[in-house]
Amino acid sequence: MTIKVGIPRALLFYEYAPLWISFFNDVGAEVIVSDKSNKRILNNGTIYTVEDACIPVKLYNGHVLYLKDKVDYLFIPRIMGVYEKEYICPKFCGLPEVVKYSIKDLPKLINTKIDLTKSSNMKDAILNMGSYITTDKKRIISAYEKALIKYNEHKSSMKNTYINEQNEQIMIMGHPYILYDEYLNMNVIKKLKSYGYSCITPDNLDDDLVNEYANSYPGKIFWLFFRKMLGSCLYLIENNFFDGVIYISSFGCGIDSVVAETIERRLRRETNIPFMLMTIDEHSGEAGFNTRLEAFIDMLEWRKINENNISTHGNNLYSRENNIRGVRY
Ligand code: SF4
Repeated sequence: MTIKVGIPRALLFYEYAPLWISFFNDVGAEVIVSDKSNKRILNNGTIYTVEDACIPVKLYNGHVLYLKDKVDYLFIPRIMGVYEKEYICPKFCGLPEVVKYSIKDLPKLINTKIDLTKSSNMKDAILNMGSYITTDKKRIISAYEKALIKYNEHKSSMKNTYINEQNEQIMIMGHPYILYDEYLNMNVIKKLKSYGYSCITPDNLDDDLVNEYANSYPGKIFWLFFRKMLGSCLYLIENNFFDGVIYISSFGCGIDSVVAETIERRLRRETNIPFMLMTIDEHSGEAGFNTRLEAFIDMLEWRKINENNISTHGNNLYSRENNIRGVRY
């Protein structure tokens, strides 16, 4: 009988899905991915997770609950790091425990430790992942090699797809599991498209370019997603053809409290590109979210027509030079 492996459609699934799915299929498992996020999945996850966890972790537990009775194994890797001397959120290092101590009667876990900062450990990690399904080491290695090709193809298909200086475009920033989960981000990309704006995410930019810009930052880059977002931010500061930046963050995310703040400060200090931070949690209502989005778009349109691109950050609005004291906003 074919072994069924469940993969929760949450957190780093949005980064590594092509690799994980292809790998487990090729070693001979049947892969079951949980449904797209919805209200029921989030509500269940919220009930089973400690209150002060961030919404992506609550949602992850909701996806685990969805799969729990449908599979033989749940793939919940322990990801320790991706780049040398850079850290990943501790929730990823302790994810198997977060799940295990939240939800009872789970199927067996494939909780392989994956540390991409040490390439020597990668082969052991792959062999460990595959050993739950087959004892054939050659098959495991070949499945991994194929999966890596699929992953790289997927990543390059996302690059430079839409960037065009002529278009009206908005950079959307945030962690991939927020940016690409339509339920969590309340379909922000589709909504912005309906207003005539194309959306660029840090994943659409060339990795080498992002790294080059990130490396020019004088401070230490401690966090994995900080590199991607900071590099993208510095890129757009220099190539000023974005109409606005929207950062979607999760309430209670310690990493975003630093990353979003740094991005906002750099943009406000060095550009007049409008910036909006949207913080979401399980209580966020779509009506409120839409209102803020519409207000942001209205402001973009309004400043194009009426304000000659005066900074929206307040520095110039009441200055003598602009002579618009008394204008109400
Ligand atoms: S980085 Fe932030 S949003 Fe992501 S899992 Fe960690 S605390 Fe949650």
